[in-house]
Amino acid sequence: MKCPRCGEDGDRVLETRTSQAGSVVRRRRECGKCHFRFTTYETIVRMPLIVIKRDGTREPYDRTKLLNGIATACRKRPVAGKKIEAIVNDIEDNISDRYQTEIKSSDIGRMVLERLLEIDEVSYVRFASVYRKFTNIDKFAKELKKIKKERKWKKRYR
Ligand SMILES: [Zn+2]
Repeated sequence: MKCPRCGEDGDRVLETRTSQAGSVVRRRRECGKCHFRFTTYETIVRMPLIVIKRDGTREPYDRTKLLNGIATACRKRPVAGKKIEAIVNDIEDNISDRYQTEIKSSDIGRMVLERLLEIDEVSYVRFASVYRKFTNIDKFAKELKKIKKERKWKKRYR
């Protein structure tokens, strides 16, 4: 951390304290050159994420809603709750890595489907029928073929 007085980049941490139930870290530092003491705060960066729904309306991203949606598709299937959480974590990481602040609900759906296909095909089909609102079986078969093809491609070039 650059010293606010002399600009030297080399300090010593004198004390570290967490507050607000561990979500804020406060550090007392001392400049290695001029011995000026200063304080820094560390907090978790949370990007507000807005979901654009099919009808164009926007709503804040809801993790619980997504978890429940996947859990419903995986009901009575050999998919552990931890696996479902891992899917959601992976998707959230993916979105935050791209610094996206808005995402289409259909894009989230697609990300879930890609991951479900790797885990359980029955859950995949259930999720697809709800999320994608397939109007006929041909459309659905086409989509399945497309995703399977992409999956093969990814495996080959990964
Ligand atoms: Zn200094």
